[in-house]
Amino acid sequence: MSLPVPQGPSSVLGGMKADGSRAKLHPLDIKGPWNTRRRVVFALLIAFYVLAPFIPVGGHPMIFLDAEHRRFFLFGQTFNAQDFWMMVLITLTFVFSLLLITAWRGRLWCGWACPQTVFLESLYRPIERLIEGPRDRRLKLAQEPWGPKKVARFVVKQLAYLGFSLAIAHTATAIFVSPKELYVMIEQGPSASPTAFLLTMGFTAILMFNFGWFREQFCVVLCPYGRLQSVLHDRGSITVAYDFGRGEPRGKLAKPEPGAPKLGDCVDCKKCVYACPTGIDIRSGLQMECIACLQCVDVCDDVMTKVKRPTGLIRLASQQELAGQGRKVLRPRLLVYAALTLIAGTALGAALTLRTPFEANVIRPRGGNPFVVDGAKVHNTFEVHVFNKNPAPSTLHIELRAPVEAKVSVGKPSVALDSLADTRVPVSVSIDRSLLGRPIDLELVVQDSFSQVTKVLPVRFLAPLGTAAQPIPRPATP
Ligand code: SF4
Ligand code: SF4
Repeated sequence: MSLPVPQGPSSVLGGMKADGSRAKLHPLDIKGPWNTRRRVVFALLIAFYVLAPFIPVGGHPMIFLDAEHRRFFLFGQTFNAQDFWMMVLITLTFVFSLLLITAWRGRLWCGWACPQTVFLESLYRPIERLIEGPRDRRLKLAQEPWGPKKVARFVVKQLAYLGFSLAIAHTATAIFVSPKELYVMIEQGPSASPTAFLLTMGFTAILMFNFGWFREQFCVVLCPYGRLQSVLHDRGSITVAYDFGRGEPRGKLAKPEPGAPKLGDCVDCKKCVYACPTGIDIRSGLQMECIACLQCVDVCDDVMTKVKRPTGLIRLASQQELAGQGRKVLRPRLLVYAALTLIAGTALGAALTLRTPFEANVIRPRGGNPFVVDGAKVHNTFEVHVFNKNPAPSTLHIELRAPVEAKVSVGKPSVALDSLADTRVPVSVSIDRSLLGRPIDLELVVQDSFSQVTKVLPVRFLAPLGTAAQPIPRPATP
């Protein structure tokens, strides 16, 4: 059963005027349990967003994307350009989790974790409230002509926005250049690093524009994830929903007239509309503009408590629940998204677990003979390519072990390498032909002093067939 959707002025976006131009929104200042929970989540996320580039883990910032040198440090793990495939796994796991969460609990990401919402609601909106007062006063101020007081308030507000925007932009720059480099750049001034300076100032300007003016339009018209919402949800998805059956017909709180139809629980105070940061009326049904912030739930519960009616007129519920069909968790869509998340997450977990702090590979000479026969001896030469993936410099010790008597020469048995540096070490090994009646497997042992991890690689000693039985004559010298 599909629920009826009321038509009329209340279904027009609150952020838009009748002529289609933008109406600046001033959401109601609300209190309530969901709002308190959101504040806690926002505080933790802001701490993470702002501090992550500055907290060292394993000798490098927790998040440092050094694009210039194509190396990336994330939570103590070091990645380079060769690890690009792992970035694909991280992205896939994130995207599939987002699909799963959206199909299961709606647009939680938008209202609770997206940096757009977190910074707007935690920094910029509170500053506006502090300087311009509560909603009623802000609305009045917006109508007033420009005068000294209004200009002063505007300037103070913009300066505060500028301070926050500069701080966020510098934090973002630190992610790409490292905090140490950022301090040096700030000390030396813009002329020493004009590109970084221009990028930081450009980002500051974008933040000023976005958080100072553009605001909810980012979610309503720009964000592609918001547009996808309608195809990710089904009737079992738990979203912010108005209980149409209980609330309608809505009407102002008054003594019922004799013979008048019985009204629903909605007292048509419109506080849910005034509280909405994207300006929608949730009583018109779920809309693409809803970011699941739950402000309308808090404000409506407050109204219901005041008029002594049960709370939950607006609540988290699925369309099936509102239609009296109960809550179905195991739905095909959810199972498919869960399976995709599990597959991508398991692959990522396995890739990270099996990842070694260094790489060691044998490189045979290209072109020429893989072995040289010299009288009674057979020689193999090759290179060992070693690559330090540790977040710090390390010394790699290289040893070649043979199961039979052999003459082994390792060009450099110990190589000191910077983080994400590599080198090739020449190795030669000679074995008497009389010992080569069967395949010989050598062992290349590489030990990493930083991580204390040791890798043992089998290396087949290459020789002509039947070496022991038939002596091979030396080529005649001209
Ligand atoms: S806040 Fe609740 S009572 Fe008031 S208009 Fe919205 S749904 Fe109706
Ligand atoms: S409808 Fe409610 S939950 Fe959705 S954005 Fe508006 S206030 Fe937030």
